[in-house]
Amino acid sequence: MLKAYKYRLYPNKEQEEHFMQHIGACRFTYNWALEQKIKAYETEKKHLSRFDLQEMVVKELKVTYEWLKDVNSQSLLNALINLESAFTKFFREKKGFPNFKSRKNPLQSFQIPQHYTVDFETNTIKLPKIKQPIKAKLHRKFEGKLKTATVSKTATGKFYISILVDDGKEKPDTQYFNDNSTIGVDVGIKDFAITSNGDKIDNPKYLRNSMQRLKVLQKRLSKKQRGSKNRAKARLAVSKLHEKISNQRADFLHKTSSKIISENQAIAVESLNVSGMLKNHCLAQSISDVSWSMFFNQLEYKAEWYGKTILRIGRFEPSTKVCNVCGFHNKEITLKIREWQCSTCYTHHDRDINAAINIKKFALQNQNLIIT
Ligand SMILES: [Zn+2]
Repeated sequence: MLKAYKYRLYPNKEQEEHFMQHIGACRFTYNWALEQKIKAYETEKKHLSRFDLQEMVVKELKVTYEWLKDVNSQSLLNALINLESAFTKFFREKKGFPNFKSRKNPLQSFQIPQHYTVDFETNTIKLPKIKQPIKAKLHRKFEGKLKTATVSKTATGKFYISILVDDGKEKPDTQYFNDNSTIGVDVGIKDFAITSNGDKIDNPKYLRNSMQRLKVLQKRLSKKQRGSKNRAKARLAVSKLHEKISNQRADFLHKTSSKIISENQAIAVESLNVSGMLKNHCLAQSISDVSWSMFFNQLEYKAEWYGKTILRIGRFEPSTKVCNVCGFHNKEITLKIREWQCSTCYTHHDRDINAAINIKKFALQNQNLIIT
C-alpha cells in the first residue's frame, strides 16, 4: 500500500538555488510541451503523445536550452507525465483544458521519481543533481520502497518534501458491516460535519479564530498602496496566516476522518458537486473554508488502509427533505430552516441530523441491507 510522508526541508543557499532551478525548469518544460501539443493539433490535427514529447525534449529542447542539462532529467520527464494526466482528466472527466503554469502560483513544486535517499540517522535527504545532502526534519520513520517524491515551496518560502512509500503490504480485506456498524455523515455550513448518531462536529475554535484574523489582515492589505513596501509586508502577513490555517485545517481534518474511520465499519456519505456549489457565491467562502473535498478524500484513502467501506449516495436524493421516521417528503424545507416537525408522524427534526440519518438509510437500502 502507498502512503505519503511529508517533511520540512532546510536547504542552504546553494541548495535553495538548485530547488528553484528545478522548479523553473519543470514549469518551463510543462509549458513548452503544452504549447507543442496545441500547435501540433492546430496545424496538423496531430496528437503528440508523452513519448513524442519525451523525444522532442531530448533532441530539441535540451539542445536549444542548455541550462536544462543542470536539472535532473527525470524531474523534467515527470513534468510530461503531469501534463499527460491533465489531458486525461480533461478528456475523461471533462475537467478544464490544461492551463499554462505560472510562476505566480503560490505553491511551486517539482518531482523526483527515483534515485534519492532518506537518512534517518543524520536527518538528511540526498537528491539527484544536488551534491550535499539536504537537512530535513524527519519526525516520522517509515519502512518500504521509495516512490515519487515532491519538493514544494510555499508562498512564505518554506520548503517541504512529500515522499510516497510502498510498504509492500497487501490491502486489508474489507470488513463486514451492517446497520449497527455503519454511520451516515453529512457536511454542513454551520457545523463542519453531522453524523447519524446525532453528533455535530464543529470547526475547532483555533481555526475559526484564525479565519476571523484573516479577514482583518486581508482588509488591511487592500488599503495599502500598490507597489509599496508596506503592501509587500501586509501580503507576507496574509500568506503566513494562510499557511497556518491550512496546517490547522489539515490537522483538524485528519483527526476527524481518522476518528470516524476507526469507530465504524462503513461510512455513508453524499456525493458532493463542490465545483458546482462554488458558483453559488454566498456559500462559496464557507465551502472552500471547510474543505469538504479534502475530508472525503481522506475518508476514502483511510477506508482503504483499514478495510472499511465508503458508501456513496447520489446528490439528488432528497436527504434533507424526507422524514427519516415515516418517509414523508416535506417540500417546504429551505436552507434557512434548521428544525422542523413532520406533519405526518410529528417527529421533531434537527435538519442536519435528519439528513445524516437519511444518508445512512439510503446507502444501506442501495446495499439491500434495509428492507422497507
Ligand atoms: Zn414523519
